[in-house]
Amino acid sequence: MSENKREIQLFTPTFQVEECLEEIRECLEKGWTGLGFKTVQFEEAWKAYTGLNNAYYLNSATAGLNLAVEILKEGYGWADGDEIITTPLTFVSTNHAIPLAGMKAVFADIDDTNCLSPASVEEHITDKTRAVIFVGIGGNTGHYEEIVEICRKHDLKLILDAAHMSGTRLNGVIPGKEAEVVIYSYQAVKNLPTADSGMVCFREAKFDEIARKKGWLGINKDTYSRTVNAGNYKWKYDVEYVGQKLHGNSIMAAIALVQLRYLDRDNAYRRQLAEWYRERFSQYPDLIGLITIPENCSSSCHLFQILVENRDEMILALNSAGIYPGVHYADNTLYRMYAYAHSTCPRASYVSDHVISLPMHMRLTYDDVQYICDEVIKIAKEQRQA
Ligand SMILES: *Cc1c(COP(=O)(O)O)cnc(C)c1O
Repeated sequence: MSENKREIQLFTPTFQVEECLEEIRECLEKGWTGLGFKTVQFEEAWKAYTGLNNAYYLNSATAGLNLAVEILKEGYGWADGDEIITTPLTFVSTNHAIPLAGMKAVFADIDDTNCLSPASVEEHITDKTRAVIFVGIGGNTGHYEEIVEICRKHDLKLILDAAHMSGTRLNGVIPGKEAEVVIYSYQAVKNLPTADSGMVCFREAKFDEIARKKGWLGINKDTYSRTVNAGNYKWKYDVEYVGQKLHGNSIMAAIALVQLRYLDRDNAYRRQLAEWYRERFSQYPDLIGLITIPENCSSSCHLFQILVENRDEMILALNSAGIYPGVHYADNTLYRMYAYAHSTCPRASYVSDHVISLPMHMRLTYDDVQYICDEVIKIAKEQRQA
């Protein structure tokens, strides 16, 4: 790093290091780093924070998405080949959960919020549609309330991929009580970072119970304790499912417990950064496109995204200025796995080619944001003239 050149990364996760180490120290001193102990504490803390009924702590949000689709499919008796409507503008783990469960991902288009367009969702409903996966891109709730209504009207289950939405509020409250299941990510660069972990929050306790078995190889520890008088024969258990190993551990949960204490404070600063970006860019509506965030959404601002004419060149030029943005995401129908829906969602295709995620993290200053805005505006003007 040269002295006069800034280096501004897209994400630089910030941890409360001493507090994290204190929580981790407790695990190490107690000799309990695995499932239980801190994972239970974090599940309780998360339920209290979100107001959701159930929370099962996992090694990733991907695990949560996979469990969610599989368990709902079995629970509601959906057939192989039945459809789930989803968005092309997301991380692939959202969509992989669908074919992994033997179902078909049907892609609806997005709107000016980068989230699913209610009109497009309605157009894609068939007699095989069973559910909708809504992704709150960047922490935005988009037109979530309309999607909730559509699901009610057509008797579809709603799955909320809230990987970007830790701390997002809609009309002042954490959204998700309307959904069948909500999935959060605490992956290394999400806005509540650990190293890798996630949460699945089923509305129904019976599905939470099944998830806890399926996430630990299908093992049912309760059967024998019920049949053979509590406490005895602890080493005996039944196996009810062919499950996987998906649960979280106490070291990750220790970090998550600390990060949760600072989540609202951190998100407030992210919203401030987003405000600073918007103030500048809103003066150049013909050069820089902004993403709509509805008035009633207080976004976690996991991402700050803009739309520009010549995205790939813009990123290279920003790199030369020491700014390292990202792209969230490529239209998933461009991938071979989803090529059957290739380019069926024009707005998603457009955004996929033009979207940039600008640096968004706790170490950015007002000056950093001004510097990034100066560069983006300068480059966009140069491109326009070229
Ligand atoms: C990161 C992410 C996931 C997956 O989260 P992991 O915890 O890394 O498995 C799922 N959906 C979206 C939208 C994401 O951004």
